[in-house]
Amino acid sequence: MGMFEGKVALVTGGASGIGVAASLRFAEEGAAVVVADINEAGAEAIAEKVRAAGGRARAIRCDVSSEADNAAMVAAAKQDFGRLDAAFLNAGAYAQTGFDESDAATFDSMIAINLKGAWLGLQAVLPALEPGGAAVVTASTSGVIGLNVAAAYSAAKHGVIGAVRSASQSFARRGLRVNAICPGPVATAILGVTEQAPIQPADALALPADGLLLPQHIAELALFLASPRSGGINGQEIIADAGFLSSYPPMPE
Ligand code: NAD
Repeated sequence: MGMFEGKVALVTGGASGIGVAASLRFAEEGAAVVVADINEAGAEAIAEKVRAAGGRARAIRCDVSSEADNAAMVAAAKQDFGRLDAAFLNAGAYAQTGFDESDAATFDSMIAINLKGAWLGLQAVLPALEPGGAAVVTASTSGVIGLNVAAAYSAAKHGVIGAVRSASQSFARRGLRVNAICPGPVATAILGVTEQAPIQPADALALPADGLLLPQHIAELALFLASPRSGGINGQEIIADAGFLSSYPPMPE
């Protein structure tokens, strides 16, 4: 029996990187998966991959900064699969713009996708999750310490952690949980890595020697935080960065 047998999960940002790994792992663990992304064709390709492997999945185009799109995503889960147990609100975008040169348009877009996207996602899934269910939001280590070279992104990710903490009592009142993951550097398109690493057996994942995490490292944590195995954890931010932030300065080459 998989961890999510008979359950339904949705994953935003499901067309690339961490969201792909999470969609595939939720499906391997028995969940029906709603793969949501602003890149509809990319989301459809991942849903098709799940179906080809014998799983249940559907894709939906969702711009997470739109309240209506978030509502439609949740409605799609209910309509196609009858329930919602896990929501991995993972979509995000990065702008490498230092504080000094950051303009208002960059700030607005970083806040809209990363912070408003997470906020609207949490509001949409709160009334829809089954008791015992959970939401997991992807923040960043740059939501824990400031990142001058990507200042608006960093500010938005700090806000994501604030949103998760602030929402946690609303979730708990309904028997639900919400937590944030703070990844360090992960080998995805955000860092220019476009080739998706294959999924490995979960217990074969080791500490990356170069400190660069695989998307699956984050996906496994998302599954844990979405499952009853993490039933005592609510309103937290969990850092997964291969130890990068825990000593300063970072390890020399
Ligand atoms: P990625 O670029 O591979 O995937 C991001 C996905 O989000 C893409 O499929 C993209 O189409 C989608 N997306 C972008 N804007 C959207 C919108 N408005 N609505 C819906 N979908 C949208 O990058 P990733 O590394 O897999 O990113 C996933 C999350 O991890 C993001 O929140 C990112 O900020 C966070 N993160 C990544 C790293 C890293 O080093 N890769 C580190 C810390 C945090």
